[in-house]
Amino acid sequence: MTESPFPSDRPKAAKTAAFRLLRPLLFAVAVIGLTLGALIVLHERPASHPTGNDASLGQADAGKASPDKAAGAPMPPIVLPEPPPVPPLTSADFKGFQFKPQDQHGEGEAPASDRYDLTLRLERGDTVEKVLADIDVLEADRKQIDAALKALLKKRRLAIGESIDLQLQTLPDQDGPRVLSLSIRPQPEREFIVTRKDDGSYEGQEKVYKVSPRIVRVEAVRQGSLQQSAMQAGAPTPAILDFIRALSYDVDFQRELKQGQRFTLLLEQQVTSDGRVTDPGRLLAGELRLTDRTIIVVRFRPQNGADGFYNPKGESVVRSFLRTPMDASHITSRFGMREHPILGFSAMHTGVDFGAPTGTPIFAAGAGKVVTAGPNGGYGIFVKLQHTTQIGTGYGHMSRLGPGIKPGVLVRQGQVIGFVGSTGLSTGPHLHYEFYRDGHPVNPLAQKFAMRAGLSGKDMNRFKALSREYLNQLKNAPHIAEASPPPARQKESAAADGARGG
Ligand SMILES: [Zn+2]
Repeated sequence: MTESPFPSDRPKAAKTAAFRLLRPLLFAVAVIGLTLGALIVLHERPASHPTGNDASLGQADAGKASPDKAAGAPMPPIVLPEPPPVPPLTSADFKGFQFKPQDQHGEGEAPASDRYDLTLRLERGDTVEKVLADIDVLEADRKQIDAALKALLKKRRLAIGESIDLQLQTLPDQDGPRVLSLSIRPQPEREFIVTRKDDGSYEGQEKVYKVSPRIVRVEAVRQGSLQQSAMQAGAPTPAILDFIRALSYDVDFQRELKQGQRFTLLLEQQVTSDGRVTDPGRLLAGELRLTDRTIIVVRFRPQNGADGFYNPKGESVVRSFLRTPMDASHITSRFGMREHPILGFSAMHTGVDFGAPTGTPIFAAGAGKVVTAGPNGGYGIFVKLQHTTQIGTGYGHMSRLGPGIKPGVLVRQGQVIGFVGSTGLSTGPHLHYEFYRDGHPVNPLAQKFAMRAGLSGKDMNRFKALSREYLNQLKNAPHIAEASPPPARQKESAAADGARGG
């Protein structure tokens, strides 16, 4: 049992949250305080000087001097304070600011402050015209906008929840606002825009954004599961699952994974020219730093094969046989000569023993055919699988067989073929695992490296170059958080690649 960290953490977290909330307020107070302070100091300083002493001071400050208020002619010029520091703009502030330089109205009579942005969402039963009517846009304008939009969308229907970005202008002689522009972007790479022209008519335009790949890095520290930590760091689920699967042949998750271990994913995202992500990223490579070793996996497609993951040596991570045919197991007896625990004399131990509780499922180490299934002398309930003409595996001391396991049945890699027990000559629940080459038992743990498929020839040369690049990018590619700007609308960059009138 571990002590829950919450009781001590919660007040701290609350305090931090409170501080965060108060921080802008504190900042504002500090700015006001500093400004007042500066004003007082600057107003007092000249007064504290003897009147005849201002020659040097007055010279330098002559340009900034302001007319003195009431103190009389001999007073030295008053220096205006520098403007107080302005707090940094938030993205919310910035959005509105970007629109102002655009003068689409063209009549020049409306000050920029009359313009504002509004985002509305289509609800069930809504049409764009209805949404515009709701905010009191003139009917003549609504009809024009609707016609321009219909011509653009053709028969395409807008989804419920679709957002409509409006740039509006308030007019002194009119209740409702005037629509300067309306934009709908049903897909990141496609935007439909209706703009008001100088003559008061509306014109539709479809913008097509170029989509191109972008390589980013996700760095994470394991807190909770690998999957949770990767998601929190911004990695998409399919990429995380690819990473976990690629690791699963090499890493014993139960024993080797620890909290605080660092890992990095290299992703290829698809991004529009104005920075919208259309594909959150597929895994190109990943690195996991374990206590005593670092595992790196690299995606590669051999010339006549499918995409797969390889270690930096060019060996496929996929093995024909599982690392161990059981989850959460530990080795209790190795292959080789030993004193037999029951028989009491030295004998060859023809397999590896994995200690595990009774009932722990046992997996087929590889795909194959069941050749033996049932009680088998000292082996107790025993299963033997034939994988190739040369290679077989055996599983002893089971408490019972897996569902449907009997001689002649074909099994998949990882299929449950039985459950841990202590049948036969056994001192306690464990799996006795054997590995046969040409019918003779060999050390299963010494076999695993021979089972990998390796790249060769041109594939190997291509792989070497690619993996060098990925290994470099695992360290140097832009971080996902830096690469992706906040999802603020970036209208100013919407001078799109494929703009065409509609
Ligand atoms: Zn054994």
